[in-house]
Amino acid sequence: MLNFSRTVYDTVKAGDNWRQIAVTPPVSAYVHVPFCRRRCFYCDFPISVVGDRKHGENSLTVQSYVKRLCAEIQATPPRDRPLETVFFGGGTPSLLSVSQLDRILTTLDRHFGIVGDAEISIEMDPGTFDRAKLRGFLQAGITRVSFGAQAFQDELLQYCGRSHSVADIYAAFNLLDTEGVANVSFDLMSGLPHQTPQQWEDSLDAALKLNPAHLSLYDLILEPGTVFDRFYKPDAEPFPDSETAANFYRLAQQRLTAAGYGRYEISNYAKPGFECRHNLTYWFDRPYYGFGLGATSYVGGQRFARPRTRKDYADWVERYVNSGGEIEGERVSDSDLILETLMLRFRLAEGLAIDELQRNVTEETLKRFWQAIDPYLNCGWMEVYTAENSSEDVSNDKEHRRIRLTDPEGFLFSNVILAKLFDKLESVAELP
Ligand code: SF4
Repeated sequence: MLNFSRTVYDTVKAGDNWRQIAVTPPVSAYVHVPFCRRRCFYCDFPISVVGDRKHGENSLTVQSYVKRLCAEIQATPPRDRPLETVFFGGGTPSLLSVSQLDRILTTLDRHFGIVGDAEISIEMDPGTFDRAKLRGFLQAGITRVSFGAQAFQDELLQYCGRSHSVADIYAAFNLLDTEGVANVSFDLMSGLPHQTPQQWEDSLDAALKLNPAHLSLYDLILEPGTVFDRFYKPDAEPFPDSETAANFYRLAQQRLTAAGYGRYEISNYAKPGFECRHNLTYWFDRPYYGFGLGATSYVGGQRFARPRTRKDYADWVERYVNSGGEIEGERVSDSDLILETLMLRFRLAEGLAIDELQRNVTEETLKRFWQAIDPYLNCGWMEVYTAENSSEDVSNDKEHRRIRLTDPEGFLFSNVILAKLFDKLESVAELP
C-alpha cells in the first residue's frame, strides 16, 4: 500500500492577481470513475451502467478503464509541486476494487508525489462496499468519504431510481463509524418528486443524528435527456413548488447552523476544520488536474474537457500518450476569468475581498460591478463586511472589507444576482 512522500513546504501564495493564480501549478487532482450499478432518474453524468455484479475485477470494462486512466496520468507532464488533494468522483468510485484504487493512487504518487497530509476523498454509495473493502481503501490512503445518502425515505429513493435503500445507508454508515472514519460527508437532495416538507425535515434530522463532519445539500435540477426530463416539467407537479423549495433551503440553514455546522459554500456545511479542501480549489478558481472520461482540467490557464463516451475517451488517451501529453485546451480569456472568479467566489460564504477585486479589474469593470449589485445591497441579498484575512488572501492588511451574498436569502437568489452581474460585465470585463 502507499507510502506518500512526506514533502514539506510552505503553502505558496499564488501571486497577486487572478491570471497568476490561474497559471500556478496545480496541487489538486480530480479522478473520474464513470461506473454505476444503474442510472438514477435525474442523472446526466458521463457514466456506464455495469449492473449489480460486474464491477471491480469482475468487469473487463472497469479493468481496461483503470489501465487507460493510469496511462493518461503517466503521460501528463508533472509540474514541480506534489498533490495536496485528490478526489475520486463519479459515477460510483466505490465500485472499484481495492487493488484498482491502490493502482491509481500509486500512479499519482509516483508521477506527481502526494504530500503526507493530503486530503484524499472518495464518493461511496451505500450498498457498494463491505468492511474489507473499506479497510483496503483506508489503507490505500483514503482520508475522506463523501457518502451519497440523498434521502431517508425508501419511497423517495425509489422514485429517483437510486440503487440503495435507507437500511443500506445505516449499514454503510455503521461500517464507516466502526472503522473510525471521522471525515465523512453526507449528500442530501431536496426538490425531489413527491417530497414533502416533513420528509425533508426528517432527512435532515436523520442525517444530523448520525453526526457527519460535513453535509452537501443539493436541490434537484431537471437536466435534459434524463428519465425525469422525459416524464416531468420543471417547477410543476410532482416537484415541490418554488416557495416550498425555498423553504427547504431556509429550514436546512436553520437546522444545520443550530447543530454547529457552518455554511462555507452555497451547498456545503461543515463542522469547523472539515471544509472540503479539494472543492475549495474549484471555488477559489485555482488550477487542478482532471483525469478520466468526461473530466475537466484547468492547468496553465487552460481548461480542457475530456470526451464523454468510452470509445472517444479511449481514442483520445491513445493520441494523448503518443503526443507525449500535448493537450489542446481552451485558454481562458480575461473576461471569462473575471466572470468565473466572481461566480465561484460568490458561492463561498466569505465572498470576495474588495481590495482583491480592485487589483484585478479595470476601473470601468469595477464601476459596472458596483452598479449591478447596488439593488441587491439595498434589499439585503448582498452585504459588505469587515473580516480578518483568510489563508487564501494575499493582502498584508490584518483586516479588510469583503463583499458576499447573505445567508440564506442572498444564496437563495444567487442565480438572479449573478445573471445581472454577468449581463452588466460581459462586454467590459478585463484585467488591468
Ligand atoms: S450514483 Fe450518482 S453518478 Fe451514478 S447514476 Fe446515480 S447520480 Fe448518477
